[in-house]
Amino acid sequence: MGEQRMTQLVDTYGRGHRDLRVSLTDRCNLRCTYCMPHDFAAWLPSDELLTTDELISIIKVGVSQGIDEIRLTGGEPLLRPDIVEIVSRISAIENPPILSMTTNGLALAKLATPLFDAGLRRINISLDTLDREVFKKMTYRDRLDDVFAGIQAAKDAGLLPVKINAVLLRGINDGEVTSLLDWALAEDLNLRFIEQMPLDAGGIWNRAELITADEIFEQLSSKYKLSPVDYRGSSPAEEFLIDGGPATVGIIGSVSRPFCGACDRIRLTSDGQLRSCLFSMKETDLRGILRSDLSEEEKIEALISKFHVTVKDKLPGHGINDPSFIQPSRPMSAIGG
Ligand code: SAM
Ligand code: SF4
Repeated sequence: MGEQRMTQLVDTYGRGHRDLRVSLTDRCNLRCTYCMPHDFAAWLPSDELLTTDELISIIKVGVSQGIDEIRLTGGEPLLRPDIVEIVSRISAIENPPILSMTTNGLALAKLATPLFDAGLRRINISLDTLDREVFKKMTYRDRLDDVFAGIQAAKDAGLLPVKINAVLLRGINDGEVTSLLDWALAEDLNLRFIEQMPLDAGGIWNRAELITADEIFEQLSSKYKLSPVDYRGSSPAEEFLIDGGPATVGIIGSVSRPFCGACDRIRLTSDGQLRSCLFSMKETDLRGILRSDLSEEEKIEALISKFHVTVKDKLPGHGINDPSFIQPSRPMSAIGG
């Protein structure tokens, strides 16, 4: 596991693609303001979601073409009733990909150990604030204690190191930059700050209000000495040693310091659409192939071809900083973050 294989999914700019982000559902039990409107109700009908068999077929095709990392996300992946079975079936694929998950952690107190036993080894838990009132304001739900319990359960289950993703919003939780890091260090968690991207569907993103990677770095530097970790690879996070290390903190400057030149990701939505980028305006339908009258062999051929077409169509960058940028119509929760 973890051994890099040759990928056949190379785009016209020479970027090889090895990382498939798989959204398991568009539904969520939080309403993070930067992700979806609090009264959002345009959920996908359940018969449009990929079944677990369909999901596994697509993942196997991706792996056969060089995908060696799968991240399960959503929406909230732990809302998928058969999440443990999904993890176990991906882990059982021959030559299995590295398997990770991004979750809000609410259901981890119950699921962390079954997930570990099913083969999950890497987890990112999203948490933007340590303050209950701020949490309620940012998510429209009073569930901070469930996240804390989920983090503890992930540690107890051995999903180490637990990574924490934090998004900062000006005037809401931007005063917590150093306190989040103090807490993460005390709890032995690996914290990464993510710049807010224009993917909320409620249209609240405002460049002028963006807490940039530079601003986060400056705030952290008021308390800690940060020195860059040399190797970054295709990771979106710039990692910094804290006070000489070994602990690190990551900053993901998706907007102000785009890393598209090294991007190795493609995305599968929960309704079976393959996307070359979070921000792409095009999707390739894989579900239609799986539900067609084609023979099993023909389906696999067609899926392989769609993987290649999607990668070939990938643009050099997300274009957020271009005047002509248009935000995708689906929110982050539907595309899969
Ligand atoms: N529900 C899970 C969770 O929150 O971890 C998985 C899906 S969520 C879309 C994945 C990640 O995307 C989370 O860490 C979340 O904070 C981040 N995210 C959502 N909307 C974002 C936005 N507009 N800009 C930056 N990050 C965002
Ligand atoms: Fe749900 Fe994750 Fe979006 Fe928050 S960021 S609303 S937890 S999908």
